[in-house]
Amino acid sequence: MKVLVIGSGLGGLLSAAWLSREGHEVDVFERLPIIGGRFTNIEYKGFQLSTGALHMIPHGPTGPLGTLLKDLEADVKIVRSRPMTTIRIPTEKDAMDYTHGFQDIEFHDFRKHFSLLNRIKLAILITTTRTFPPKSGSMAHWCSKNLNQDWALKLADSFCGWALSLKAENVPATEVFEIIENMYRYSGPGIPVGGCQAVTEALINIISSHGNKIHTSTEVTQILVENNKAVGLVADGNEYRADLVISDIGHLETSRLYDTNALDTSAASYFTAIRKLRPSAGVKICLASNEPLIEHTGVLLTPYAQRINGIDEVTNVDPSLAPAGKHLIMAHQCVQWENIGRLEEEIDLGLRDLSEIFAGKEYEVLLIQSYSGEWPVNRSSSGSDLSNRTPIEGLYVVGDGAKGKGGIEVDGIALGVRTAINDILNSN
Ligand SMILES: Cc1cc2nc3c(=O)[nH]c(=O)nc-3n(C[C@H](O)[C@H](O)[C@H](O)COP(=O)(O)OP(=O)(O)OC[C@H]3O[C@@H](n4cnc5c(N)ncnc54)[C@H](O)[C@@H]3O)c2cc1C
Repeated sequence: MKVLVIGSGLGGLLSAAWLSREGHEVDVFERLPIIGGRFTNIEYKGFQLSTGALHMIPHGPTGPLGTLLKDLEADVKIVRSRPMTTIRIPTEKDAMDYTHGFQDIEFHDFRKHFSLLNRIKLAILITTTRTFPPKSGSMAHWCSKNLNQDWALKLADSFCGWALSLKAENVPATEVFEIIENMYRYSGPGIPVGGCQAVTEALINIISSHGNKIHTSTEVTQILVENNKAVGLVADGNEYRADLVISDIGHLETSRLYDTNALDTSAASYFTAIRKLRPSAGVKICLASNEPLIEHTGVLLTPYAQRINGIDEVTNVDPSLAPAGKHLIMAHQCVQWENIGRLEEEIDLGLRDLSEIFAGKEYEVLLIQSYSGEWPVNRSSSGSDLSNRTPIEGLYVVGDGAKGKGGIEVDGIALGVRTAINDILNSN
């Protein structure tokens, strides 16, 4: 087959690498001069910052992405985070912030901070919910209905904010329980040695080693459709014909590249659904320090911060991500949709949080990056993803606009790519 891929983000590269290995002819078109979308490194002052991700793969080497990379024989080493997560809580029992001191607890000890009644309830709920997951309602609703204690919501907000860049009230409880199932199935996070770029480079090598090409600085402006079938695209004014088009830019952006009026009414529900998709927004604050700020390779969740949800220190796995003797720390905060217009205030609150979380420590703020709209944290907020198919035959969508169920971020992308490529290979 001749395949054209729109976008060289992780979804596009995974699809292109897989189809290249299957012997297909693949061209990838990327409008930016760099490859990798929101999953590659940016060098700044000798630090390997990133275009998006926090250099972390949610389920590490054994998750959907780790497994797919292994299947593709991509040359990447992913180091499992140990411990998976710690949680920073105030030392004083009823304190609601970190100003009077804090301590870090292991993730599995979160239960100890519930009342006795809630601990008993939780033990029952953990077993029953795995068998009978909730069918409706948000995670926040589930917490207040079952464990009416502030700690439950704080923890859920911190976890959803870190992993999905959403408040618990905006994540369906079913999705969170699917994610928890995936934690049992695939285990916790990991960090690729070399950061996001190591993954991107390995995939580029597979694509180019099969004689296929990634055209950078080449924007796709139209998808060519004949008799309801994708037959090619227009990029930088040139027409390219193909058997299949895969788009890594989300359903909505993809639909803007073809004439939707030519489609019959059966496609109407698809267009209604894609107009409802809401990207998740967030802010990443990159810090440098001369001493470690977090003493491990996992995530530090900060449920008592006003805005910061969690932090990782990637140099604890790969010191080469910073100049010799320096540490690179990345903090993430979810931005609620109604606050997107007030980003500066949101950032100030995040910076204030960091000064409390790292009170008494010296650090430098290297870079603050914000993400929303067409350059979001996730193109479809988790739990709202559509399938990889479109109403047009031979046109598929991959990437974080079409993640697999229960798949966090790049692991969700890998689940979606597996579904899409298997579908393509089985039907051709
Ligand atoms: C702050 C932040 C932190 C994150 N942290 C993590 C993390 O730690 N772990 C994790 O797993 N995930 C994380 N994510 C999410 C992860 O980075 C993204 O889900 C993933 O990189 C998205 O990949 P993609 O292939 O879907 O899309 P993208 O990376 O957006 O790729 C799409 C590409 O298409 C190109 N393009 C768009 N339109 C056109 C066009 N018309 N023609 C040609 N090219 C076009 C774009 O330039 C882009 O390069 C984070 C994201 C952010 C923003």
